[in-house]
Amino acid sequence: MENERVIAAAFKWLEEQTAIHGDVLTWSLLAHGFRLDGQQIHIVSQQGIFKPRAMSDVPLSLRTSSDGPYGDHFGSDDTLRYAYRGADPQHHQNIWVRKAMRLQSPLIYCHAVVPGRYLTVWPVYVVNDDPGTLTFTVAADVRRLETRATSMAYTNDADFRRRYATREVRQRLHQRGFRERVLAAYKGQCALCRLRHPELLEAAHIIPDADPAGFAHVPNGLSLCRLHHGAFDAMLIGIRPDYTVEVKQSILEEEDGPMLRHGLQGMHNTSIWTPRSAGLKPDPNRLEQRYQRFLRSA
Ligand SMILES: [Zn+2]
Repeated sequence: MENERVIAAAFKWLEEQTAIHGDVLTWSLLAHGFRLDGQQIHIVSQQGIFKPRAMSDVPLSLRTSSDGPYGDHFGSDDTLRYAYRGADPQHHQNIWVRKAMRLQSPLIYCHAVVPGRYLTVWPVYVVNDDPGTLTFTVAADVRRLETRATSMAYTNDADFRRRYATREVRQRLHQRGFRERVLAAYKGQCALCRLRHPELLEAAHIIPDADPAGFAHVPNGLSLCRLHHGAFDAMLIGIRPDYTVEVKQSILEEEDGPMLRHGLQGMHNTSIWTPRSAGLKPDPNRLEQRYQRFLRSA
């Protein structure tokens, strides 16, 4: 089979999968892959540098299994660093990667945000090879250039465009990692209403991310459904440091349908559900800071 055909089919399959699941995909989904001309095409394997049997001489994907801190994986020039397979530059897998660099063959990059769950990015290109540090330099690029030519990000200046796209990968790793860790700590439910639908859950920051105190770690997070995340951010709901929910007075006095009654008013004076482990519970100091903002906004 032609390499180009396998790559195009893999990209199309990933488009479909990420439309359903978002851009963090499970190991089992990626390892299982899809069928093409009666052949099973896996996207990843136990090998970090992976070439399916249907392809020749260039890999389809690069996988990084360590989850955070993500800084180690990025260069100061907004590129990704990918370690050689072993210490021998002539290992056949390293030779595949070098060939992908020479041909500028697009690859899939899978980076674990928590064990077994991968932020999946494509296309990425190998742009440099450094035998001195046994690393390849990898840059992400934007998809379907021709249809998105209006934005500055899709400029024809490939170097500029790739730096932008790679910087975005770093932000996504940071955000998706936070979401995955918070949802796992809250056993996939909303801390307020216990809704158990991951597709409707988000990781809320107690202190916003841009704030110096707004670290993306679980004690600065709450797993909330979209309604309660929105209500928390709009200061319709406050959470006291003792984990009691307080609903804004004007909301309590309003009269409306079931969403208002059950979804908002019904939460007043309830306790949020928190993880059992002390290290994962919401930080009372941050909650206090946020609660003061809620009081001021009322
Ligand atoms: Zn909820």
